[in-house]
Amino acid sequence: MHEILLSLILLLSLTSCEKDDPAADSISTPGTVDITDVVQASFKNDYTDGVSVQVNGTNISISSTGLPDHKTPYWGARHEMYEDFPGTNHANMNITMMPFNYVMTILIYPKEADFKEQTELGAVGMALNGVPLYNDYEGGGLLQENAWGTFDASAAHPGPREDHHYHCEGDYLTADDANLIGFRDGFPVYGRQDMQGTYPDDLDDNGGHLRVTSDFSEAIYHYHVSNEV
Ligand SMILES: [Zn+2]
Ligand SMILES: [Zn+2]
Repeated sequence: MHEILLSLILLLSLTSCEKDDPAADSISTPGTVDITDVVQASFKNDYTDGVSVQVNGTNISISSTGLPDHKTPYWGARHEMYEDFPGTNHANMNITMMPFNYVMTILIYPKEADFKEQTELGAVGMALNGVPLYNDYEGGGLLQENAWGTFDASAAHPGPREDHHYHCEGDYLTADDANLIGFRDGFPVYGRQDMQGTYPDDLDDNGGHLRVTSDFSEAIYHYHVSNEV
């Protein structure tokens, strides 16, 4: 098992698959919305039972193995949750995915980080099933065209360390909807749509805005997935 801490100060446009480099803009949020109930109700993995939530003072820690709760070729050919790659144009991958020991610690009352640090590689958040959310970068650069051939039906694949992760929306995560899919930098991440079924047109450079959502009746800063390539 590998120990990996997901920092809440990492900030980049991770759940989008845009190929430009968004600047880390300032986020304005009142920091008055308590996310405890939503986090406790939403983070779970019924298939692996590998996700747990602990409240410690002003923080919530979500632990997971990072293994998904849905089908993917990366379970391995004889696994009950195996399914083939989508389409026919995919890499011939022998790589599998391994369990990790991820811990994401976020604030009960999320607020803007004191400083922001851009990261070019690695996990920047966690999906509700415990699978890490990665940014657009991989192997020192923006996702290469050939990376798309390694994606399973949920736009996920294991990295060089056999760490399975999402880059953007896909069949099992979110597909053009308003679903809550995870947390990034301590803030909720939703699908492309807002709760009214509309596409937000006021997102900042980080892909977020301050609005009421289906889970929070008070306005809360949240991100939206985009899938522009
Ligand atoms: Zn990747
Ligand atoms: Zn929104």
